[in-house]
Amino acid sequence: MNERQISGKDVILKAAGLLEVKLVSAVAGYPVTSIVNLFRNDDFWADNTFWMINEKVALETALGASVAGRRSFVLTKHVGMNVLCDPLVTSATHTIGAGLVIIAGDDPGAKASQNEQDSRYFGPLAEVPVFDPATPEKLFDSLKEAIELSEKASIPVIVRVTSRLLESFCESALLRPKGSVPPEFDRSVWDYTMKGKHQRFHSMSYPLMGDYSQSQDCLCHIDTTKTGIISSGYPACLVEKFIEESNSRISHLALDMVYPLPIKKLKRFIDHHEYVLVVEETEDYIESHISIEDTIKGKSTGHIPHGKIEKEHILHALENIKKTHMDKVVNPETIKERGPRSICDTCPYLPLYKVLGTIDKPIAGDMGCSILSTSAPLQAVDTGFALGSAISVACGFKGKGIAVIGDFGLAHTGMQGLINAKSNGFDLLVIILQNDVAAMTGGQDVADLTHVLEALHDDIEVVDFAEKIKERELQALLMEKMEKKGISIILAKGTCPKY
Ligand code: SF4
Repeated sequence: MNERQISGKDVILKAAGLLEVKLVSAVAGYPVTSIVNLFRNDDFWADNTFWMINEKVALETALGASVAGRRSFVLTKHVGMNVLCDPLVTSATHTIGAGLVIIAGDDPGAKASQNEQDSRYFGPLAEVPVFDPATPEKLFDSLKEAIELSEKASIPVIVRVTSRLLESFCESALLRPKGSVPPEFDRSVWDYTMKGKHQRFHSMSYPLMGDYSQSQDCLCHIDTTKTGIISSGYPACLVEKFIEESNSRISHLALDMVYPLPIKKLKRFIDHHEYVLVVEETEDYIESHISIEDTIKGKSTGHIPHGKIEKEHILHALENIKKTHMDKVVNPETIKERGPRSICDTCPYLPLYKVLGTIDKPIAGDMGCSILSTSAPLQAVDTGFALGSAISVACGFKGKGIAVIGDFGLAHTGMQGLINAKSNGFDLLVIILQNDVAAMTGGQDVADLTHVLEALHDDIEVVDFAEKIKERELQALLMEKMEKKGISIILAKGTCPKY
């Protein structure tokens, strides 16, 4: 790396300035937290970058900015896409104003996530464009085109990133801005019925998306060999490195925009070759659209694994390209191989987890630190479906359910579960780990919701975990609460020594 080079993360910061973005709304989580920290540490951006309590409100705030003619970026990890999906899906036919780009951080390999989902699928679901750039230069171009297309088609646009892209470098001087005045929301769209809005979308916005995709300036070299590779995202870099290092004569079509897919471009490329390998992360998104042809090899034929791709996967697939199918290697990774995830030795809540591990009932955990207590020796909580899910999950248990949730999980979406539990009369013991930070994602501040809880519920017991707590006393308290009808809340106050 030389002094003029900047990383994929810096490209996003730089692009925000050059593209005259006015608002950045974000929810912490790997791999986007470090990008947002760059914005928060920048003098200008510090006042215009917000840690939001959840992804739905993050997108809604950006939609408001867009209506008012202010360009915006929303930064979220892939699972956050599930949470913002509601306003995202309706925004395409609603129409917006100024450019709005959702930067979705995927985690192939699930290094720090509860799954490996592929954000590209939100394109066809919400009918919004998706870019999947391979390099930091391409990332800049994608952000620029995303803003432009967002304003022309009046829809949000998704740009998918992964950690390897964010940690790659490019020449800073290559980045060029493109000036234009952002539009405001045109409320004449309300002249249409809801059905009419969908018809307007398909006659005006969708064809524009198709034109952008078909005319995208993607990397494409066609060799005279029988084999070609189609890729998108960071795996396109791996393919290029593989071709260079192995001195192979292989054609390569690397797509930057993956929704809508440039079908004509793909067909021309496929027609040129006897075998076509699709190399993509995380799912078989492109492949599933084109695998009607027998020539296509990839994840569905067992040539390429799901999840994170490495160069050796490409070599192995090419060595076996003539095979119709390959045996899929199914060797699910275990906790033993990767090393156990556990609660920190200095965690003030350790005595609580020890007591919870002795309870012979299911305990709903959440996607905060409580998820670290699932493995031996603690084996304290039993579930961890999604951030903010613990309270509603426990409502489905037999008898009085037990939920353990962090204060960030409560603010994120857990509070709705608590309101629902009250309005439906569920019996519940809710243990809220109140340490005032989102400890799993880097110690972001969390709002104190104690007064809201007090307004909703009577049975609230505050336990100070800064004091030395005896496990016997904790056990007795939990038993006492479990014998009571209704909703009992234990506010477990503690300080995370990490933050
Ligand atoms: S990060 Fe903090 S709250 Fe989480 S387990 Fe470690 S010490 Fe406990």
